[in-house]
Amino acid sequence: MTEQLFADVILPLPLGDQFTYRVPPAFQVNIKVGVRVIVQFGARKFFSALVYKIHTNRPEGFDIKDIDAILDQEPVITPAQVILWEWMVGYYCCTLGEVYKAALPSALKLESQTKVSFNPNYKMPVDLPGEEEALLLMLQGHGHTNIQSINKFLGKKSALSTLKILLEKNAVLIEEKLEDSFSAKKQPFIFLHPKLANETAISEALNSLKKAKKQLELLEFFLAETIYHTDKKANISKKELLERSGIGEGNLRSLLAKDFLHLQEIEVGRLDFSGDGEQIIFDLNDAQNKALAQLKEQARSGKPVLLHGVTSSGKTEVYIKLIEEQLALGKQILYLVPEIGLTTQLIARLKRAFGDKAGIYHSRFNDSERVEIWFNTLHEKEQSFQIIIGARSAALLPFRNLGLIIVDEEHENSYKQFDPSPRYNARDVAIVLAQIHRAQVILGTATPSFESYFNVKTQKYALVELNERYQNIRLPEMLISDVREATRRKQMKSLLTPHLYEAVETALKQEEQVILFQNRRGFAPYIQCGTCGWIPKCKHCDVSLTYHKHLSALICHYCGHTQSLFGNCDECHSDDIKTRGFGTEKIEEELSILFPEARIARMDMDSTRAKKAYERLIYQFESKQIDILVGTQMVTKGLDFDHVSVVGILNADQLLNYPDFRSFERSYQLITQVSGRAGRKNKQGKVIIQTSQPSHPVLQEVTEHNFTQLFNRQMAERQLFKYPPYYRLVKIVLKHKNKDRLNVAANQMATKLRKLFGFNILGPEYPLVGRIQSWYQKEIWVKLERDQKLPQSKKKIMEEIKALKGQPNNGNLLIYADVDPM
Ligand code: ADP
Ligand code: ZN
Ligand code: ZN
Repeated sequence: MTEQLFADVILPLPLGDQFTYRVPPAFQVNIKVGVRVIVQFGARKFFSALVYKIHTNRPEGFDIKDIDAILDQEPVITPAQVILWEWMVGYYCCTLGEVYKAALPSALKLESQTKVSFNPNYKMPVDLPGEEEALLLMLQGHGHTNIQSINKFLGKKSALSTLKILLEKNAVLIEEKLEDSFSAKKQPFIFLHPKLANETAISEALNSLKKAKKQLELLEFFLAETIYHTDKKANISKKELLERSGIGEGNLRSLLAKDFLHLQEIEVGRLDFSGDGEQIIFDLNDAQNKALAQLKEQARSGKPVLLHGVTSSGKTEVYIKLIEEQLALGKQILYLVPEIGLTTQLIARLKRAFGDKAGIYHSRFNDSERVEIWFNTLHEKEQSFQIIIGARSAALLPFRNLGLIIVDEEHENSYKQFDPSPRYNARDVAIVLAQIHRAQVILGTATPSFESYFNVKTQKYALVELNERYQNIRLPEMLISDVREATRRKQMKSLLTPHLYEAVETALKQEEQVILFQNRRGFAPYIQCGTCGWIPKCKHCDVSLTYHKHLSALICHYCGHTQSLFGNCDECHSDDIKTRGFGTEKIEEELSILFPEARIARMDMDSTRAKKAYERLIYQFESKQIDILVGTQMVTKGLDFDHVSVVGILNADQLLNYPDFRSFERSYQLITQVSGRAGRKNKQGKVIIQTSQPSHPVLQEVTEHNFTQLFNRQMAERQLFKYPPYYRLVKIVLKHKNKDRLNVAANQMATKLRKLFGFNILGPEYPLVGRIQSWYQKEIWVKLERDQKLPQSKKKIMEEIKALKGQPNNGNLLIYADVDPM
């Protein structure tokens, strides 16, 4: 008789602790740390939980439930991940359940509320076990069904194990949310029609085609390529079928009409890189070779390395060389990018270098692809992706043998997850991940974050610099153009100063391209009554509505609330309504008047919502079908164009005056990054910065490319006022629909925190927008000394949060801590 075993499991819930279940004797042999089990939680809910610890200590004081089933034979996570997760819990004030939720693709974390549907691409075999068949037929009839209803249908306490089998057979799909700005690419695929589910039906079909030779040939070709093939496939893409069989499309249409074949659009990886085309890896130039040698040298020191390389210095080419070496060693490589959707060019470059060895992991890909990459990363397979390119969640994959992590554009704030918890910064997680794996980690950027540069100064990180652009293209000439002066002299051409106007005009004459940057979308940030000063605000948020002219609508950029624009003031009914400020839409309109011949396009969230719109814009700009590209931040992201000679920054004041302690750092980054798009291949480009503060020190530093001066100046201030990187920030956010309740709770919290941490507390204060979607919010900022015992301090903060939340009248209060807020 073996001793009774217990398992502590992680539930995919934001709950703090692990939960202990008894391991029934039948499971004692197979239970392992890292496998998923089905457990009951609460009266009726079932979850797939992860086994975190196995022990023999019977917990006291409550009825202990049994584990209902074991889902996996082998662990689905690695011991290294557990170490990383534990670090995240301590550092980011979150729970293991939250990390579990963030890390695993949804198909691997079933719960009672998970929605399931029949996979229309699945061909039901005749010998399916009764229960599976019954369930599939039910799903076919019902569309989406949640697991709870499935339990009821099967008359089982938990149907999760049946579902798991069906998921493995690819017979069912797990519901997932697709964000609107992104939709996976679909392609037509051809399947055998379900009517031909058995041999008899197939031979009858073939017989019936005796007189239609081409159709017969096509069907036979299809069968040979799919179910008759040694490695059976269910489908073949329409394109491939027609190309390889060499048979006309009309015949395919007939077979589809006869219900012999079946066409279905299915999602394929968004970036379609078939393995053809030869591998392209360039030789490095001297400067790049030197950087490469230094990077390799630093690898031995074990420190993270900051690769500070000016725009267009060829950092990607250096990474490619390092990746090649790791591939040869059989190691895995993680290549992190801020936003997959905005890295089309980079991904294409990596794919050209590494073809099928590189896989893309994206939270908005469909779930079966994510599961595939998950297991691909976990287990060595004959054909697996050794290089994973992905946005932040890729750092949470189950690497087994990681050799190198590249964090591209490390300064980007999209590495930080804002909501929900875990609110982690993937750059920093990558550094810990690399430590766990003893892998090299390289942070690359033309404009380092102050945090990373500070770590170089304090020798936590090593520094490698790449100061010349590839082919010695000169950095752009940077000019500051005074808007106030031009306005006073009545020289403004609409929104452009004479400098910028002339530069654009010249560029157009010489058939060169122009990028204009304004970090505001829409037509005007707000409108105002010229008579009484009334400004329309959002009903749900404390923010003015943005005017979108082509939609004739006022839109809230925080909650999406939209209302149509009437010509009169709500207050005094005057029809003297004026637009204030300007966004990309207005610039586009004004330009079309100033330069009627030019082909103008806009790149922002609004213009790239449609499928493939972003890729289309890039392609059109690359192929010179567009002369002037007007855009938001989107145009600053690592794009590489050959014919851009002028970059204009329409309103630098708006960046500089943004009320945030990082606004100068950000302004420098944004202006430098967008400037980097100018003059890349043939000649020196020109950058014109419009401002009403021409002597602003940050603008001087930007135009002189003097990062060090900006850094030193700002560091002195950060130290004086106790901001990062000298101090650690923890932002406590409180939200409530009732303003008074919010204020009481926020004050209580601040008092508690002041008792604990003295004067290093700011707030409570309303953030820039004090109410969003009817939730009032306040923030308290805690500045923690770096040498203080940080983990303990964070623990104390979490205890206070819990205590406050636990008070009887705080039931509807939302409160959380955001560590290292951005
Ligand atoms: P960065 O990432 O530093 O801004 P990139 O890696 O995008 O720079 O390089 C800029 C451009 O120069 C790209 O088009 C790249 O392909 C090209 N390039 C850089 N180095 C080389 C090289 N050694 N051989 C050929 N092309 C190169
Ligand atoms: Zn009015
Ligand atoms: Zn709103």
